[in-house]
Amino acid sequence: MSNAPAFALPRRARLLPLLVERHREHGFLDRGSVEHIARQLGMPVAEAWEAAASMTEFHFEPVRGERSCAGLACSLRPGWREPTLPAGCLFRCYEPPASGDERPFPLEMVRRSGPLLAPCDQTWAGLERARNLGPAVALEELERSGLRGRGGAFFPTAAKWRAALSRGRPLALVLNAEEGEPGVFKDRALLCLRPERVLEGLGIAMQVLQPAVTIAFINGAAEPAAAAFERALAASPIAGDVLVYRGAGGYVLGEETALLNAIEGRRAVPRPRPPLPVEAGLFGMPTVVNNVETMAAVSFIIREGAAAFRELGTAHAPGTRILSVSGRVSRPGVYEVPMGTLLSDVVVEAGGAGDSSTALLCGGPSGGFLPWDLAATPILPGRYHPTGAMLGAGGVVVLDWSSDIRRAALTMAAYNAEQSCGKCTPCREGAPLLLELLGSGRTAEVDELADVLQHASLCGLGQMAPGPVRSALEFWSGVFV
Ligand code: SF4
Repeated sequence: MSNAPAFALPRRARLLPLLVERHREHGFLDRGSVEHIARQLGMPVAEAWEAAASMTEFHFEPVRGERSCAGLACSLRPGWREPTLPAGCLFRCYEPPASGDERPFPLEMVRRSGPLLAPCDQTWAGLERARNLGPAVALEELERSGLRGRGGAFFPTAAKWRAALSRGRPLALVLNAEEGEPGVFKDRALLCLRPERVLEGLGIAMQVLQPAVTIAFINGAAEPAAAAFERALAASPIAGDVLVYRGAGGYVLGEETALLNAIEGRRAVPRPRPPLPVEAGLFGMPTVVNNVETMAAVSFIIREGAAAFRELGTAHAPGTRILSVSGRVSRPGVYEVPMGTLLSDVVVEAGGAGDSSTALLCGGPSGGFLPWDLAATPILPGRYHPTGAMLGAGGVVVLDWSSDIRRAALTMAAYNAEQSCGKCTPCREGAPLLLELLGSGRTAEVDELADVLQHASLCGLGQMAPGPVRSALEFWSGVFV
């Protein structure tokens, strides 16, 4: 498919796949195995250990028992028990309380579908059209569509591609399927149910960018999603041109520079910016990292045209967004809605109470809480409220504030403290302190600390960790005294 010369990845890029393979075989990583792998790759043992230890789902001793979910939607359910094994969200928030391994995403949990979640024929018509248009015209079509990345940052996709192309070759392309935000399961839905749609978008990106290497990086626990993707890949026109990597956990792994470090066989922590990945990313190459939902949208745009995409959504935010809705609703699942749809309408459609007892957590541990009287807000990129609630990756957990809000705020603060990778001091020290302040009722001290986290942390995890705390205190300060 790609006419670009293939780029031979350095040997250390085999580190993560070998660690994952060994972990699967034995259920944990022992010292001897990591040392053996390091020697095999000709890299320092200390660096191999450092990389392995940064993956929160690797075990370094045998573990027994079944994983049960510690995520918010599950912990709100009667019958939920504190997990005995370390486990964050199990990404089955639509069937709480979840336990055990991941299962294929159920079709019936697609509560509302739009162009991305609707059945997609397997004619590869979008790929064919991209070929006929040629890279330059296909990129212009994408630009006209106004697509912005669906990973959470909403950066214009065509501008990202152009920025990488302007740096020259070789360049790298990475599909970010490391969906790791608690309460978000829409990429799993796309990969399980519509893998051809995602693959077609990826193939179109390969046509336009002519990458020297293309990698699909799929969450390590998302077994059914990875299996569906790999099956579809094997039957696709881009079979043989895409390397599949699997992660090993951690919220911060979804951050694109942490993901690149993981592929490079390094500690999976964010890199300082600049340079941006489009300037110097994977092994120094200009690198485009796009999310699963973004690639699905690329497929639709090239198949149907930019104008068809722009018929959906708003002038400034065209297209649809897939929300993952869970918590105190009778119809949890994924809802693909045009941008600009009112958030409150989706919650009511999902069976939320929709009255003053309702609170929403929007944007997960990096987002914030929203009272019902502010929920009639259009679903658009950015924040719903300055204290933290935002669209982000599209997670919406519906809460009953009278009973849930304190626990939910503490759960989010604890999660951020646990997931801090420790690379920078403001987040490493500040996130646990934020939890302590909230838990002990020393809420008057929160603002100053939150400012430090927000402005001095290296990546989004630390910068946005104050959101759930600040928003909970803004609207429900009474429950923390
Ligand atoms: S902000 Fe937190 S997660 Fe991000 S690099 Fe710093 S310590 Fe790591």
